[in-house]
Amino acid sequence: VEPASTPAIVIGVKDYGESDKIVTFYSLSRGRMAGIAKGAKRSLKRFVNKLELFSLLELFFSDSRSSSLVRLDQADLLDPFPALRENYDRYTAAALICELTFHWTRENDPDPNLFSLLAWSLKNIEDLKRPAPWGVVLFQIKMLTLLGYQPDLNGCTECGSLSPRKAPYRFSSARNGLVCTPCARPDNRFETACLPISLSTSRFLHKAQEMDTSMLPRLRFSREAVEESIALLRSYSSTILQRDINSWDQLVKTK
Ligand SMILES: [Zn+2]
Repeated sequence: VEPASTPAIVIGVKDYGESDKIVTFYSLSRGRMAGIAKGAKRSLKRFVNKLELFSLLELFFSDSRSSSLVRLDQADLLDPFPALRENYDRYTAAALICELTFHWTRENDPDPNLFSLLAWSLKNIEDLKRPAPWGVVLFQIKMLTLLGYQPDLNGCTECGSLSPRKAPYRFSSARNGLVCTPCARPDNRFETACLPISLSTSRFLHKAQEMDTSMLPRLRFSREAVEESIALLRSYSSTILQRDINSWDQLVKTK
């Protein structure tokens, strides 16, 4: 059993038995991984205030012969993102990002770009001078691109246009993109029931897809664009994951 270490972000924590914790991470070298911390609740010094949701750690662990859970040996705190815990809106947004990371990834399937995006997004929500849900929109739109599920927001997936004359546009999860009104098959109830999306929101999400991540905080947006984006991303991701993630509800309530 070789001890190993990796930078890792805590994306889930639960108590296990009387005094242990099971902690889920998204890590640089292994992607999603879960480990058990023995006696963590008995405040062993090595884990005090470290195995908390959102914490960025250098994690030292050992593989187990009998279980997919690694044994957590030690952790050095690199960034606890304290401001995420001090504000309900930020906490909700950051927790949703962690939950999305969990559902969109598999164990032992590392993606260094996704690790960077997750760390950047937590920092971004911490620093954001705008509503926290915006941070979730940026994370999810960039994550979809990294994972190869980038929706086509550049124009109608049928005719290619993005023009007010063909509005309203709708977002079709089945087509992975937009469909204009003339191209939507009127006999297809599924398609006409798809979410309408304004031209400005489409343009704005498309711009976010194209921009370098570090430049994203400069993007201007309206509250309507954030609300439309959240509805679109939630519906698209529940179609692909084939499950709904309830934490979106808490996010929508934040203004
Ligand atoms: Zn069209």
